[in-house]
Amino acid sequence: MNIDIDIDSIKGFLAVDEGQALHQYALQTSALGPCLEVGSYCGKSTVYLGAACRQKNGTLFALDHHRGSEEHQQGEEYHDPDLYDSQYQKMDSFPVFRDTLDRAGLEDTVVPLVATSAVAARHWATPLGMVFIDGGHSMEAALCDYRSWASHVVLGGILAIHDIFPNPADGGQAPYEIWKLAVASGLFEALPTVNTLGLLRRIA
Ligand code: MG
Repeated sequence: MNIDIDIDSIKGFLAVDEGQALHQYALQTSALGPCLEVGSYCGKSTVYLGAACRQKNGTLFALDHHRGSEEHQQGEEYHDPDLYDSQYQKMDSFPVFRDTLDRAGLEDTVVPLVATSAVAARHWATPLGMVFIDGGHSMEAALCDYRSWASHVVLGGILAIHDIFPNPADGGQAPYEIWKLAVASGLFEALPTVNTLGLLRRIA
């Protein structure tokens, strides 16, 4: 992998094997169209995907409102005080995300979209070679991400979904529910899951 940054220096919740799989599929699908990720946070997955896009002269759209998911808010399990903007009294991961892009040499490859999924998708018309969904984990947020982006994946392209836990004891079910929706749609075939990274190829 052509990655110019210490990946462990980036805050985030992506395992190395999952990042490597994202990188490989981004390389494979680059000829089909640009890549889009939902939920960039501090840019860990952005680096794995973006390095692949850069290698192929492609583009990665990195969508995140940067106000944090439910679990990142003050008082919640994954709240990080370093990412709290006391002036606005809101989470703000965008400054750290920009720093990651700069340090990783990805500013000419990655287009940050600072918006919600619903707003960014409203006028979206660009076919995508790969979509990676790792946004909010409420059922409402996951469904919105799925409905906003899955249909833009081109034939042969990849839909990747993070935090797939078939056993409810292991984690929240919303990502797994949208993974099942994708399979049930008949539009995607399931590929082998890597750790908690669900992978689907568009077949219809
Ligand atoms: Mg995740």
